[in-house]
Amino acid sequence: MALIVQKYGGTSVGSAERIHKVADRVIHARNQGHDVVVVVSAMSGETNRLVALAKAVADPPKAREFDVLLATGEQVTIGLLAIALEAKGCPARSYTGAQVHILTDSAFNKARILEIDDQRMRSDLQAGRVVVVAGFQGVDAEGSITTLGRGGSDTTAVALAAALKADECQIFTDVDGVYTTDPRIVPQARRLDKVTFEEMLELASLGAKVLQIRSVEFAGKYNVPLRVLSSFDDTYTNTGTLITAEDESTMEQALISGIAFNRDEAKLTLLGVPDQPGIARDILGPVADANIEVDMIIQNIGADGTTDFTFTVHRNDYAKTLEILQTVKAQLKAREISGDNKIVKVSLVGVGMRSHAGIASTMFRALAAESINIKMISTSEIKISVVVDEKYLELAVRALHTAFDLDQVATAA
Ligand code: ASP
Ligand code: MG
Repeated sequence: MALIVQKYGGTSVGSAERIHKVADRVIHARNQGHDVVVVVSAMSGETNRLVALAKAVADPPKAREFDVLLATGEQVTIGLLAIALEAKGCPARSYTGAQVHILTDSAFNKARILEIDDQRMRSDLQAGRVVVVAGFQGVDAEGSITTLGRGGSDTTAVALAAALKADECQIFTDVDGVYTTDPRIVPQARRLDKVTFEEMLELASLGAKVLQIRSVEFAGKYNVPLRVLSSFDDTYTNTGTLITAEDESTMEQALISGIAFNRDEAKLTLLGVPDQPGIARDILGPVADANIEVDMIIQNIGADGTTDFTFTVHRNDYAKTLEILQTVKAQLKAREISGDNKIVKVSLVGVGMRSHAGIASTMFRALAAESINIKMISTSEIKISVVVDEKYLELAVRALHTAFDLDQVATAA
């Protein structure tokens, strides 16, 4: 017998029929002898509807009151799920975040969980009840309702699993796991059986939008095994993708786990800046002050006492960054600014990289074979990223997927 936290996203609870399916799945887990705590999102589209409604009244809405409104979506689904479970003869109790003391800070709309009191949930489980908790919400020290940021129900689930020391946190969604890359780009993309927390963080932040990034960080920190699976598999046999700590013995598989990409990148270069201490600060200080996040940074070696400085930002920040650089250029008496907002970043991710040489050269060879020009390169322990022209995104991802043997092996008919 295990203690399992199951989380169901918006599409999984999007209608009365889906709610029944979720109830059936919860009962199935119970019948296998498990204790189950369920976390639910609002019905799909509901949070967006509430956001629009608030903005129609006042834009921006007062943050505290906005959270009072947003938290209602999840209160609907906990009620519905508990009603469905009870109607099927399964004892259940629903709770809002505040009722199970999910204590957060007071950063409305993006609150962080500080503490969870597991007493109530434990006594319900002991009494044989399924516990149904509203995702995405908590309560601050003053008793105000808070929300955790969009997609926050994943984080609620992981936090509850950590607090309860659950054996597994299962995230049910409308896809059946984490893939080697986006199947819309590479139809041969394969579902991964296992991936490490670290790899998942890289894949998530690079665009594989399966899980809220914060929930993966949280799971890694508290070592909560996370499993992503589909709530649309009525056979209950799909095992999805397990996200877990690195395990030397079993992780000895592929060198590369996946290929992530970011479409919305832009790069800027300041040419002919003085090659002297303080220059990076002079250039990036004002960018950071404007709350613009910088990703890759490259500074060339100096010649003639000057050097070139290149960095990337999100495409939405491109115009603003160009404006800032105009001022910096004048201050530093730099020669020229050049920019490109039609670039993308493609990244290979895999813990296997740590112990293997030659991954980068295989990557570069595969891109060269397709005549794809690499504009920037950056590496970390488990990732190699390249910046290429936007028009090569699909081609690059496909070429790399094949070069690293990630394509699904066709099963003989
Ligand atoms: N309902 C919230 C949202 O749509 C939280 C969640 O679904 O995880 O962002
Ligand atoms: Mg979600």
